[in-house]
Amino acid sequence: MLSEEVRARVETALIGITEEALRGRIRRVMLRAARTNQWKRCQGWTPCPRYGILAAPSAAPAAPTEAAPLCDLCRAGVG
Ligand SMILES: [Zn+2]
Repeated sequence: MLSEEVRARVETALIGITEEALRGRIRRVMLRAARTNQWKRCQGWTPCPRYGILAAPSAAPAAPTEAAPLCDLCRAGVG
């Protein structure tokens, strides 16, 4: 179940979209992404310090000095 805050944020993001069908489609995508995000946090995923992307706790760090788990972008060597 998504919090009211998340729902409000999605609705705010949709304000600029005037086309009803398009707005509905984007709303579904955003709510699904929010639910996935929520699930990941519940599973112990933490946001990457560099990009803020949620990274799995089991992900092996590229460098032993890295304290936080790395996200896909960092592991791919982006940035
Ligand atoms: Zn990262």
